[in-house]
Amino acid sequence: MRIGIAGAGTAGLTTAWLLSGSHEIVLLEERGTPGGDARTVSVGTGAGTVCPDLGVHEVSDQFPLWSRLMRAAGLGPDDLLSVPASRTLRHSGDARPYLVSPHTVREDRHREVILGPAWEALNRLFLEASRWEEEDLDGEITVEEAADWPTLPGALRDDVIHALPASVFGCGIREVPGLAARGVGGFFARPEPSTSEAAPTQNVRGGTQKLALALIDQLRTTEVHLRARLHRLDRDGDRFTMTETSGRTHSVDAVVFATPAHAAAAALRSLGGSSRLRAILDSFTYQELVYAAHLDPFGMPQERRHWSTTNVTVHDGWSETTTWYGPGHGADVFVSQITHRGPQPGREVARTSFRTPLPTPAAHRARRRLTQCQGEGGLYFVGAYTRALGSQEAAVASALDVARRLARPGPRLRQLTVR
Ligand SMILES: Cc1cc2nc3c(=O)[nH]c(=O)nc-3n(C[C@H](O)[C@H](O)[C@H](O)COP(=O)(O)OP(=O)(O)OC[C@H]3O[C@@H](n4cnc5c(N)ncnc54)[C@H](O)[C@@H]3O)c2cc1C
Repeated sequence: MRIGIAGAGTAGLTTAWLLSGSHEIVLLEERGTPGGDARTVSVGTGAGTVCPDLGVHEVSDQFPLWSRLMRAAGLGPDDLLSVPASRTLRHSGDARPYLVSPHTVREDRHREVILGPAWEALNRLFLEASRWEEEDLDGEITVEEAADWPTLPGALRDDVIHALPASVFGCGIREVPGLAARGVGGFFARPEPSTSEAAPTQNVRGGTQKLALALIDQLRTTEVHLRARLHRLDRDGDRFTMTETSGRTHSVDAVVFATPAHAAAAALRSLGGSSRLRAILDSFTYQELVYAAHLDPFGMPQERRHWSTTNVTVHDGWSETTTWYGPGHGADVFVSQITHRGPQPGREVARTSFRTPLPTPAAHRARRRLTQCQGEGGLYFVGAYTRALGSQEAAVASALDVARRLARPGPRLRQLTVR
């Protein structure tokens, strides 16, 4: 078969990698480089070159499929770097943060850890999130409906419990109660109360885009077209014609959408009989997020002893992060969400924007309906948004599901599934 794949993020690349060799593949990617939300930049510093990630940066050797993919693509344990999962929360303009959690890899004796009521509130979120997971809550139930924290003062609820998910999903703090508890819970579940953050997180040395480039190198029987946006899809007898914005066309037997849902809906507009699918895809709500890499400590607490790997600033109903590359990478390089901030970084080295899906009850319903439509008429959908918890692992898992439907078990499928 000749299979068209739109989108060269983790899901599209993994699908192409799994199917290449068994089928002919045409892979179209709108941007000039593969990787999707994995976007690495290279920054020269006094401490050498550091490669901060503007988008995806937290990975884990506890992601089983993603880890096997990484190994199969030729990256090894040395390509992963443990980074303390420490976190500072503060109001913009306040000199003193209300939370500075411990570093988890090794504590720096110059840091001042601040726990107290905010840490207790955070633990409540971790424990509640675990309960939501354990009870396997239906994705229809919102945070507001599921939550059981009646004794918490309103300020702690907003500044900690709602501010943290808001910074992860990029929505307003007041929108968090309306999100699906299951979708939020997956990010914060921790079964035991604790005085430290979860296990250290990991970064890919050289940036997460490194995996995308390694996968591209291993593609066989695949035509890769960069700066090639799928503009429309038409049926042509038993086949499809994929038309790029440039007008170039590709005739294929089946199409895998590895784009965000809104981009798939737009490309399907030209395809007769696709209105039900488009309605499903349009039910996913996306949030626009702008990120910048910078060399000045914009977004960081005033005092260095309060600096953490992740620093959340609460302001004007939003909470936005600044990631510090010091603890893991040894350099004062920072990446900030700057979507809603007034002041901007002074020494900016790169900027980009993303659209990220919100875990709403409507998205949960849409996901269930999309699963039922997989493969209908030769159309398939992969991507982190097709799973309850958006992550690199989810992107790989979605690709594996679709590849299993499109190809007989081969060595690459086995590499991902056999432990
Ligand atoms: C800012 C941000 C940070 C994240 N951080 C993490 C993290 O640290 N750890 C983690 O596990 N997960 C993280 N995620 C979640 C998840 O892992 C990523 O979103 C993941 O990259 C999704 O992969 P994907 O392949 O589904 O989609 P994407 O990475 O979005 O890839 C889709 C691709 O489709 C292309 N495309 C779109 N429209 C078209 C078109 N019409 N024609 C051709 N190509 C098109 C896009 O350019 C893009 O390359 C993050 C997400 C975001 C947005």
